[in-house]
Amino acid sequence: MLIDTHAHLNFSAFKDDADEVIRRSLENDIWMINVGSNYETSKRAIEIADRYGKGVFAAIGLHPINLHTGLVKIKVDDKEGVHFEKEFDFENYKELARSAGPGQAKSKIVAIGEIGLDYYWRPKTTKKKELFKQKQKELLLEELRLARELELPVIFHCRMAHDDLIETLTNLDCDFYDRRNRSQISGVIHCFTGNWEQAQKFLEMGFHLGFNGIIFKLDLDEIVKKTPLEKILIETDCPYLPPPQFENQRNEPLYVKYIAKEIAKIRNISFEKVAEITTKNAKELFEI
Ligand SMILES: [Zn+2]
Repeated sequence: MLIDTHAHLNFSAFKDDADEVIRRSLENDIWMINVGSNYETSKRAIEIADRYGKGVFAAIGLHPINLHTGLVKIKVDDKEGVHFEKEFDFENYKELARSAGPGQAKSKIVAIGEIGLDYYWRPKTTKKKELFKQKQKELLLEELRLARELELPVIFHCRMAHDDLIETLTNLDCDFYDRRNRSQISGVIHCFTGNWEQAQKFLEMGFHLGFNGIIFKLDLDEIVKKTPLEKILIETDCPYLPPPQFENQRNEPLYVKYIAKEIAKIRNISFEKVAEITTKNAKELFEI
């Protein structure tokens, strides 16, 4: 069995056949977490999870790229069906978490995510750039507060902002929950693309690292090799980042097996070992 810890069957790329894709995946013993990127996609992730028994879970959150800062023009991604939000409506998201079927909120909404920092589409002038970063950090802190209130782990998105995320998390002057006496917040840095030094800092803070098809594109072998297996999660980030044999096609949870295979190859261990340990890691972190 495998768990795709970061999927987006809640995105418009799957609007016509999400159930078919999910069935295919469950038949192959692959579970998944559909991750929200704004209110709409978070809601859809819960609706999808509610249609299934075990095996399909949801995360809710506002992706930094979907925060309308008015400072930069961001290209709309038609695979996602983006709605920009002017601000993070804490109460609305909290209510959404409660809206999951009776007794379901705890078991079906397994994380706050994806949240974090993304400096890819940044403004050109220094002043605007600083303000833009500031707004993203404020959003992040609000969402971490929600994670604390709901006692949920976090799925972090981090692009071109690893040092800032480390700094923000290190300097958190807060009483965030300490669920497992491990760190202030538990969670995963999904689609990890930083360097080994940054990886170590996240690991020291108790976080997991998530690897997906980007390991076929960037040279992350050193990090895949050195990260303790107990700290690795596998994911697809579908519909994005398909493995090379499906280049330019829509990715899906079933293909998470190719990530496990590649990790096994890089670490020179068996596929079964990677499957066993990463599944255990996901089950423990998300309490599923
Ligand atoms: Zn994602």
